[in-house]
Amino acid sequence: MTKIQTGQIIAEVARKEYITEHYIRVYLYSPDVHLFKDATIGDNNKIAVPPKGLNEIHFPSLDQETHQWIYPAKEVAPSIRTYTHRGINVEKNEIFIDFVDHGDGGPASRWAREAEVGSKLGVMMRLGSKELCPQADWYLLVGDGTAIPVLGAILETLPETVKGVCILEVHGKEDEQILKTNADITFIWVYNSEPHGKSDLTQVVKTVEIPETSKFGYVATEFLSVKEIRSYLRKEKNWTQQELYAYSYWKAGVAENESQADRQKEKNAIE
Ligand SMILES: Cc1cc2nc3c(=O)[nH]c(=O)nc-3n(C[C@H](O)[C@H](O)[C@H](O)COP(=O)(O)OP(=O)(O)OC[C@H]3O[C@@H](n4cnc5c(N)ncnc54)[C@H](O)[C@@H]3O)c2cc1C
Repeated sequence: MTKIQTGQIIAEVARKEYITEHYIRVYLYSPDVHLFKDATIGDNNKIAVPPKGLNEIHFPSLDQETHQWIYPAKEVAPSIRTYTHRGINVEKNEIFIDFVDHGDGGPASRWAREAEVGSKLGVMMRLGSKELCPQADWYLLVGDGTAIPVLGAILETLPETVKGVCILEVHGKEDEQILKTNADITFIWVYNSEPHGKSDLTQVVKTVEIPETSKFGYVATEFLSVKEIRSYLRKEKNWTQQELYAYSYWKAGVAENESQADRQKEKNAIE
């Protein structure tokens, strides 16, 4: 098995902006950004968020045999979270990451809210490229705010010959974004100001007319919706494993690092 080459950098905030009411884009500067020059936009990364009040990054290291993270002392240990590589500017030594602002309840969201010019963040990421999704004639892209970065990246690469439907759940109309694509995509925005409660995503997915053509689905949102949508597409609509990537990007009530095992198990449940 080929070992995936990853790199880690300590970057600092160059600037940040609210792209919409609950969405913060953070531009991160580091002289080492060139390490990620070949990384695919839309690939996921791991960010190391320092404890509140500390502007230093003490990276954990990964034990190659047990694949367990070895953490530095508790007072300085960062929280590790998964985000998406949304963009890079090698000339300016900058990358940027889009954070859903879901309040102060999680270290990553809180960090993005409080980040100022000079605030430090550790970023770990694959150095080479990665295929985000295979070629198809028709795409079903479904996600909430956490998936807008990866779906946005996919949409940017789709050619004008393909069609599809993109269903996105956000807090409210104020969080809709214009996502660029050459493809013929119908966008459906679903509003949910209480993402810990019930979501309408599955019901909306069930209204989509699926054409008889080559297809691919990318579904990334909260655990329960992913589970329902996977079950619908795989069991009721007989989509094959190759036609669908569905992975929960977070689980309500559980920190991202603590729900990883559950989310992985669910991903493999029907596969
Ligand atoms: C492959 C992958 C890529 C991802 N890319 C992005 C990305 O680019 N941008 C992004 O914003 N997120 C992204 N996520 C999701 C992100 O990792 C989670 O939302 C994560 O929980 C945020 O960490 P936190 O420290 O803010 O909260 P945590 O400490 O992990 O969680 C604390 C609490 O916050 C709640 N919570 C977590 N996320 C949300 C949310 N979105 N809305 C409402 N409540 C929430 C949980 O219920 C939990 O109880 C990605 C996840 C994966 C697996």
